[in-house]
Amino acid sequence: MPTCTHCGSEFDVDEARAAVSDEYDGDIDYDEEMEGEVCGDCSISKFDSDINVGRAIMMMNGDEDYDEDHVETYL
Ligand SMILES: [Zn+2]
Repeated sequence: MPTCTHCGSEFDVDEARAAVSDEYDGDIDYDEEMEGEVCGDCSISKFDSDINVGRAIMMMNGDEDYDEDHVETYL
């Protein structure tokens, strides 16, 4: 079993891949992004934070409705 480089727990790559695929409807490719080194839970929290940072940047640019709480939390 591989060990997650984020939380240090052992995990099953097939389960991590399935968890990410379920969470994002296949929009994010676990193997491409994490290369089998990060567990499902850590992958999802990393992707969620990347998505939230991306949205905060879009709000700053006026591409998305501005939400001050969101921007303060993620930028
Ligand atoms: Zn982990």
